[in-house]
Amino acid sequence: MLTLAFLLAGLAPAPVTLNVPVYLGADLSEDIVTSALQETKRIFEPGRIALRFDLSPEHHSIRPLVTVVVLPRPAQFKVYGCSRNRHDHRLGHTQLGARRITLWSEQLVRAVDGNWDRTALPDVDDQVFARALGRVLAHELGHALLGLNGHRDRGLMRSDFSYRSLTAPGRRAFRLADEDLQAIRDTLLDAVAKNKNAALRLLDGA
Ligand SMILES: [Zn+2]
Repeated sequence: MLTLAFLLAGLAPAPVTLNVPVYLGADLSEDIVTSALQETKRIFEPGRIALRFDLSPEHHSIRPLVTVVVLPRPAQFKVYGCSRNRHDHRLGHTQLGARRITLWSEQLVRAVDGNWDRTALPDVDDQVFARALGRVLAHELGHALLGLNGHRDRGLMRSDFSYRSLTAPGRRAFRLADEDLQAIRDTLLDAVAKNKNAALRLLDGA
């Protein structure tokens, strides 16, 4: 059995890590943020993709592949359709060119409550909210890392999340397709190789 386990371990692809700077502009507790990011990480784990979130980002010489900003609400309550290089939702959006994801926490509170028309902010369970936040972040990361303007028919990259699936304890409805996980791995490995080359050029003084 042990030999088999080693053989299987040998066949598994090496993990690839992505550092993600997160700028928190919304008032969220540490517990909520930790749980939400854990939920996001779990969705990418089947592809051996390790997400490392940096909540105190400093300026780096290498431009991050993607940056996350969490705000309470959009500046304007205008929902755009999906268009070239721009992708919008009521809960958050991804600007593919700028490699920037914005999430709106108050919109998500309403989605978790299941009633979009309430003007006052509803009181929702912290853990359920965190779970939903993590899933929406994973969806937007999917757009950013796949360079995907459109959607898939099912799984994490489908266009609509129902209130029920967003809040359900199980994350079965938020799987990333194998080919999407592979495409993201390829993108990350490619970025690692490019960064290595850039670092070598700097060392050479070229
Ligand atoms: Zn989407």
